[in-house]
Amino acid sequence: MNEVGPLAEIASYHAHIYYDGEAQRQHAERLRIAERFRVRLGNWRDEPVGPHEQAMYQVSFATGIFATLVPWLMLNHGGLSIHPNTTNPKRDHLIDPIWIGRALAVHGEVLGEEDEAEEALEVNTEPTLGM
Ligand code: ZN
Repeated sequence: MNEVGPLAEIASYHAHIYYDGEAQRQHAERLRIAERFRVRLGNWRDEPVGPHEQAMYQVSFATGIFATLVPWLMLNHGGLSIHPNTTNPKRDHLIDPIWIGRALAVHGEVLGEEDEAEEALEVNTEPTLGM
């Protein structure tokens, strides 16, 4: 039987915005998340990195942003996953993520099972557009 985990285990979230090829990269650019939400936008990763099989960029966000950012991404996504950051990155990426669009393979063998839960990273965006 699975343990019931407290919600407080979730320190923050990551969204991984995946793209494959130029058209999808352009869509990922057009999302303009930085102009709509207070988040930490990561670098463009045009080559697969870590457990990820496709090019992507990462969006780190606080738990309080979830209820607005996630529904907005549902309506505007290319392909992406969103996962909680707890003390178990392997579980976060492999077992507990939500996928919007088609689920992709994730190479969990490079991820640890015991780590520090990542608090939301410092915001580096200043929204000017509405959602
Ligand atoms: Zn991640």
